[in-house]
Amino acid sequence: MNILVINCGSSSLKYQLIASESGDVRAKGLAERIGIEGSCLTHQPAGKDKVVKEEAMPDHNKAVKMVIDALTDKEHGVVASLNEIDAVGHRVVHGGEKFKKAVLIDDAVLKDIEELSALAPLHNPANLIGINSCKANMPDTPMVAVFDTAFHQTMPKKAYLYGLPYEYYEKYKVRRYGFHGTSHDFVSKHAAELIGKDRKDLKIIVCHLGNGASVSAVKNGECVDTSMGLTPLEGLIMGTRSGDLDPAILEFIGEKEGLTPAEVNNVLNKKSGVYGLSGYLSSDFRDLDEAARGGNELAKTTLDTYCYRVAKYIGSYMMAMQGVDIIAFTAGCGENNYAVRRGICDYLACLGVTVDDEKLKIRGEDLIVSEPGSKVTVMIVPTNEELAIAQQTMELL
Ligand code: AMP
Repeated sequence: MNILVINCGSSSLKYQLIASESGDVRAKGLAERIGIEGSCLTHQPAGKDKVVKEEAMPDHNKAVKMVIDALTDKEHGVVASLNEIDAVGHRVVHGGEKFKKAVLIDDAVLKDIEELSALAPLHNPANLIGINSCKANMPDTPMVAVFDTAFHQTMPKKAYLYGLPYEYYEKYKVRRYGFHGTSHDFVSKHAAELIGKDRKDLKIIVCHLGNGASVSAVKNGECVDTSMGLTPLEGLIMGTRSGDLDPAILEFIGEKEGLTPAEVNNVLNKKSGVYGLSGYLSSDFRDLDEAARGGNELAKTTLDTYCYRVAKYIGSYMMAMQGVDIIAFTAGCGENNYAVRRGICDYLACLGVTVDDEKLKIRGEDLIVSEPGSKVTVMIVPTNEELAIAQQTMELL
């Protein structure tokens, strides 16, 4: 089956056409600056040259139309007609408590996603626009919504409730939801396959360390805890997001700096994390690595602080699951960054974890990096959220 995977932002639309049985990416691309001057579509068909089309895209309908034209183009296309696209899988950020797995989109689902925009005001409305634009351009093609939050819906109450008045949960559904669910699901499943076991028999900690970062505890195939919360701000220190902090800091900083709550929120989301901690050096770990190697003390402290937080989460999730069989690193840093993986693995030595330092330096491939006698298997598992969305879409059909 050919599944078109759509990840829609407010002014952008990423897509991949995936042959879901083989996992082959037949084409992928990005429509940028939708609704803004200078719109541009970059289309990359497999085995052919990249095509860049600069053409006005006043709205997402036009962007989807251009994507379809590119996919079916005689020269740069990969399918003869729209009929060869069997379904569309949409990434939707927030599924609240309503969606515990992927669903076929109908009017009721659209209404629910719209209502859940209160919990993800930046993401769900953009996801909806993408769905509606695809429906307008492909009215007869089945559409599936795959939610970032769905995999975490198995968490028990003790893991998702906050120490707040219970009425806030009842009235506003204030609770931990967790994000990156498609990745945690895909990586934990694949990690088990790599050691020839079933995920149902294992305790796995997945460290998704990208620009956004989260850790999850997956016990017997189900998520039992994860580090992101009501929003993707909680948990690990990220590229520009603070992660966990004392909530009283918000008011304190607001008063000292003369900032409104919304402005403080902006600082926590956009100016904090390793970017803020390093004195605004960079949110990119490659720059921080280079600075640290060059002797920059603040860059070293930033990396230490980052690794320490990840290690603390691993420790707490071992307690949550009463043990761990596999620790898997994924996403940009988890797949590629030696310094970060080394820093975290140093903390694991107390568990009897031993890793092969040469293997730890290898980038971006499925790899067991722990030594044969290690008490816990440590591995690198590149994530593939688009493939996971395509597979879930195919399974649902
Ligand atoms: P993601 O959000 O998954 O794309 O991850 C982005 C993060 O991964 C950035 O902070 C990058 O610095 C980091 N990253 C990507 N490639 C490398 C690399 N080769 N070495 C070190 N860090 C990397």
